[in-house]
Amino acid sequence: MFDCGEGTQRQMMRFGTGFAVRAIFVTHMHADHFLGITGLLRTLGLQGREEPLELYGPPGSRPTLELMVGLGAERIPFAVPIRELEPGDSVHRTGYRIAAFAADHGVRAIGYVLVEDDRLGRFDVDRARALGVPEGPLFGRLHRGQPVEVDGRVVHHSEVVGPPRPGRRIVYTGDSRPCSSIREIAQGADLLVHDCTFGEEEAERARETYHATAAGAARAARDAVARRLILTHLSARYADTPRLLEEEAGAVFPGARVAHDGLVLEIPFADREE
Ligand SMILES: [Zn+2]
Ligand SMILES: [Zn+2]
Repeated sequence: MFDCGEGTQRQMMRFGTGFAVRAIFVTHMHADHFLGITGLLRTLGLQGREEPLELYGPPGSRPTLELMVGLGAERIPFAVPIRELEPGDSVHRTGYRIAAFAADHGVRAIGYVLVEDDRLGRFDVDRARALGVPEGPLFGRLHRGQPVEVDGRVVHHSEVVGPPRPGRRIVYTGDSRPCSSIREIAQGADLLVHDCTFGEEEAERARETYHATAAGAARAARDAVARRLILTHLSARYADTPRLLEEEAGAVFPGARVAHDGLVLEIPFADREE
């Protein structure tokens, strides 16, 4: 989970996400990004959770996160380890990692990028057959990088398997002005989820408050050649007119969309989409 605002657990129930959350990655310590932690931990405790729940935040976030965990007379029946992440730090998981990068929000703030591991290269079945490799377990061994022997001749992985194919990359900026670190980390990203607090008529205010406009977010996505852009963190004044922001962004980055609660997105592998 990335950030945990006040209404988070209510929305989790409403949209049936389940509560199998292993970690919460907080971008910065403005209250709209962490006030939901205390309630969510209580709920998980009442459900009898025993597995630890990890909390991550930017440098300096530990005291506030500890406060959120300790608030109230109840004891949380599972461990809640807290770790501060500097830009460049990563958390490794099976099949992917989550790395922190610097955001530009006037306070200590980080964004997060989810980077999937590379996948095996494409297996050329016709070429393997032509080399005399019989279909079956030998195909699998070759695909995983092992040489196999056929009729006294060794067939190597590189003869039938293409280069590793990159996994997907999803970038979440948290609150931020558009900035160079976002454009860098979002290079070719499959999805960029960008702050979009204001529209163009509030561009000055966006700068002053270290937020982004729809067009600013769209320029970041365009410059990074990201594949998709989702706009989030809209100011309440756009609650009834999210299309306005979508149009402003769409003029720069066609297909930009404003997120709504419960939005589910399918992110196909780039090489399958082409
Ligand atoms: Zn903020
Ligand atoms: Zn915020």
